[in-house]
Amino acid sequence: MRQPPAGREVAFLGLGGNMSDRIYYLNRAVRFLDADPEVEIDDISSVYQTEPVGPSEDPFYNVAVRVLTRLSPLRLLRACQQVEDLLGRVRTVRWGPRTIDVDVLLYGDRVITTSTLTVPHPELTGRAFAMVPLLEVATGWQLPDGRSLASVIADLAPIEGVQAIGRQVSLEDLPDGPPEGSQA
Ligand code: ADP
Ligand code: MG
Repeated sequence: MRQPPAGREVAFLGLGGNMSDRIYYLNRAVRFLDADPEVEIDDISSVYQTEPVGPSEDPFYNVAVRVLTRLSPLRLLRACQQVEDLLGRVRTVRWGPRTIDVDVLLYGDRVITTSTLTVPHPELTGRAFAMVPLLEVATGWQLPDGRSLASVIADLAPIEGVQAIGRQVSLEDLPDGPPEGSQA
């Protein structure tokens, strides 16, 4: 993987949602992130449909994003939370339905353990729905402990219920027509 330009760091974000218009919300989220002058979207994975883990009805759609950023890890988390707020995430039931969840998966090779931010994301290595999209935008990358992402995914096998469905999230123009899942 190429080195980031001077003054910037490579970080990986995980985005997911399981309410209606999932593709629409994911596209809006990457645009909000990219609109931050301190955050550049460098790559976006395929969309993966994943089965819900909690008391939700609909499958999640997940993507991973590689960013180049000048934001500190904590400010990057704040930027992610701002996107969640802008897109109207209602924090009710943990793991319940949400328009969009944006997590900091990795920030360079840093290990961070504070009350508000843990990096690598504490659930990352146990979640196939986070690891599989991440591998797509972090090929050859390692965890801070030296494990390759590929080896962590191998340890999760057999992986079931995480399926690539296409590249519907990008910074290019959105296709015409109503968003996916809309009732209109
Ligand atoms: P989850 O993502 O586990 O479904 P939330 O999005 O509601 O749950 O996050 C709960 C809390 O997790 C946030 O208030 C945030 O401070 C904390 N957190 C700790 N580390 C991270 C991280 N790497 N990325 C995102 N949130 C994190
Ligand atoms: Mg979260």
